[in-house]
Amino acid sequence: MNRREALKTIWLAIVAAGASSFLSFEDLLAADANPDKRINLVWLHASSCSGCSCSFLNIEDVSVLDILTKFANLIFHPDLSLATGDQVTEILDKVSASGMPYLFVLEGGIPTAMPHACLMADQPITYWVEKLGSKAIASVGIGTCAVFGGVTNMKGMETGSIPLDAFYARKGITQAVINLPNCPLKPEHLVYTLLHYAYKGSFPSTDSKGRPLKFFDRTVHEHCIFYADFQEKHYARYIGDAGCLLKLGCQGPLTRNDCLIIGHNGNTNICIRAGHPCIGCASEHFPRRVMFHIASDPQGVSEDS
Ligand code: SF4
Ligand code: SF4
Repeated sequence: MNRREALKTIWLAIVAAGASSFLSFEDLLAADANPDKRINLVWLHASSCSGCSCSFLNIEDVSVLDILTKFANLIFHPDLSLATGDQVTEILDKVSASGMPYLFVLEGGIPTAMPHACLMADQPITYWVEKLGSKAIASVGIGTCAVFGGVTNMKGMETGSIPLDAFYARKGITQAVINLPNCPLKPEHLVYTLLHYAYKGSFPSTDSKGRPLKFFDRTVHEHCIFYADFQEKHYARYIGDAGCLLKLGCQGPLTRNDCLIIGHNGNTNICIRAGHPCIGCASEHFPRRVMFHIASDPQGVSEDS
């Protein structure tokens, strides 16, 4: 079997086996990459804590270096690129003027009411997102801030932060946006999405909010290890108790995500397996004003639900 056939076979196996087979990315990366299919990546931070970048760099199943060199061509990343100051402006101006095809990755919410809240090379981030996003072949919003606003537009924030797709709608930018919410991003979701783009020339199919169905077609609740307890109405009353965490405010029934299939930190654990209610970090309601269930919390799960 030649290199091309091997790569194709591995890729088809991954697609057929579903998202739970992420370990097989190692096989994919072990095969020679096809330089013709490398995607150019421009990655920016708007208002963010850089948690999604850290999460991406911590991926354990594959080498980040392989992803960014064999399978993608990283043109710019605020933390990883060596360029500073004028060099950054030069690179980004050149990219947007060149007509080269690239994917635009955005981490963080976009502060539209307070432009100086997030500056890069003396320009507000809104300038860069419009300039680079509008020229990209497609965009990827990573993390709940870029997808739903998340922490950056929680109650009390005055930056007027909005998600990437809302910003595009405001600016009349019509290109496709794929959304990968999670606080922080699950790196497997991004790697899968990028490899899908590299090998198929398209993003995986998504729901109406731009989230890949592969990861977000079901709620956390539907995959939950405590689902039988839920059905038997066996509820935990305190953190650490055995049983369904619903009455401690679990947001699993309201949150679409594959956490009980792909957890955090190389799938070593996830909130619910650690005995903690889901706080809905991938949902449009995150962060809630009150994280746990109390009767006065309007977004909490009521005792009757
Ligand atoms: S712990 Fe949460 S996600 Fe699990 S069954 Fe109970 S309500 Fe559903
Ligand atoms: S279980 Fe809930 S809070 Fe925890 S990572 Fe998944 S979606 Fe986020």
